[in-house]
Amino acid sequence: MEVLKAGWPERVERSPEVIGTVSRILSDVEREGLPAIRRYSEQLDDWNPESFVVSADQIKAAAASVDEELAAHLEFAREQVEGFARLQRATLTDLEAETRPGVVLGHKHLPISRVGSYSPGGRYPLIASSIMTVTVPKVAGVDTVVAMAPPRAAKGIYGPQLYTMDLAGADVIACLGGVQAFAALAFGFEDVPPVDLVVGAGNAYVAEAKRQLFGTVGIDLLAGPTEVAVIADESADPRLVAADLLGQAEHGFNSPALLVTTDRAFGTAVLAEIERWLSTDWPTVEVAGGAWREHGTVVVCDSREEVVKVSDAYAPEHLEIQTADDDWYAANLRNYGSLFIGPEATVAFSDKSIGTNHVLPTGRAGRYTGGLWVGKFLKTVTYQRLTAAGAASIAPSTAAIADAELMYGHALTARLRES
Ligand code: NAD
Repeated sequence: MEVLKAGWPERVERSPEVIGTVSRILSDVEREGLPAIRRYSEQLDDWNPESFVVSADQIKAAAASVDEELAAHLEFAREQVEGFARLQRATLTDLEAETRPGVVLGHKHLPISRVGSYSPGGRYPLIASSIMTVTVPKVAGVDTVVAMAPPRAAKGIYGPQLYTMDLAGADVIACLGGVQAFAALAFGFEDVPPVDLVVGAGNAYVAEAKRQLFGTVGIDLLAGPTEVAVIADESADPRLVAADLLGQAEHGFNSPALLVTTDRAFGTAVLAEIERWLSTDWPTVEVAGGAWREHGTVVVCDSREEVVKVSDAYAPEHLEIQTADDDWYAANLRNYGSLFIGPEATVAFSDKSIGTNHVLPTGRAGRYTGGLWVGKFLKTVTYQRLTAAGAASIAPSTAAIADAELMYGHALTARLRES
């Protein structure tokens, strides 16, 4: 293996500054409530309106700011996301089985009652995030979705974003950003009660807020700064691969991008194409270029097996495959948030409108979880029902195990059902 360019952080380090800031904001909001939310919103986002909850008139004004063409594209994206979420929901069937005579066991999928949805809006107002985090819980049957996004230039939620939150079916919409948004969702604010689960992507503060709130509320997954990896060989187009790497690096200066290839000459060609793209003028070239120079990585491997090993170790959020062996890679890779198979499947499709969810695991969380999906809004709960004969057949082992654990109360409840 040869590293042509290094940059992807070696270890996922949580910055002490971020941990401390998040902990202070969360505990202040838990203790003081609304005054602390106001203070941090003012301090961090220059935003302190009479009410953080958005009114029907404000939603109407936002709708007026969206032209017909964009509205049609947003509806297209909403339909794709809803359609795929419905198909996924249909795979989650309830189960009931008689596991032995007189013993019936089952499970069912119950929607979570109240969900808090966050759409990022610091650098870019991520309109599509509102579709991902509001439409999908509604498909799951969640009663109430409280949707939040940060103010844009201290003027409230960006019009098209607010329009989309409403289009996606949010029950309550509020304008709050970052940690104070998550604190408000978890502890309640104004007359909005706390939610049971918070979901959505965001920057390092947002990811840390979710980590610290886990337990007080449920969280979907840790979805922090965007990452992209491309596995490509000499059969791929270096220009397309370079563009796909930079296209995601555009998210922010801390967004890593990785190329893993079996062909050194191809790796060098992609590096040259990236330099060519970075020497041209486009509105976000500075961010993409900054991210690439700091966190861009190119690795040349000796075999496709080694490629899989390297890629699985990074567990990238987004993983594209552009090789002569796409099917082999797709069958053998294990750690990623979402996989993009073949040169036509670019990450931006899923980011915006293809229908798969764009809230995906980062910081190597792809080792243990996939991304947001309808199943994250459902609790799989079990139940059991028995006849007297069924109970009598289970009681002896239960009583014996309880005795061995010195749990005599448990043993008693079993023995009372032994005959
Ligand atoms: P954001 O909405 O996540 O964060 C904006 C908020 O951060 C602000 O409202 C502010 O309150 C807070 N903030 C900023 N500086 C702070 C500080 N010093 N202390 C405390 N709070 C502070 O928007 P963003 O910053 O543009 O970040 C969006 C992120 O979401 C990007 O990193 C992007 O890559 C990521 N993203 C991830 C996924 C995923 O699924 N993993 C999907 C989309 C976007």
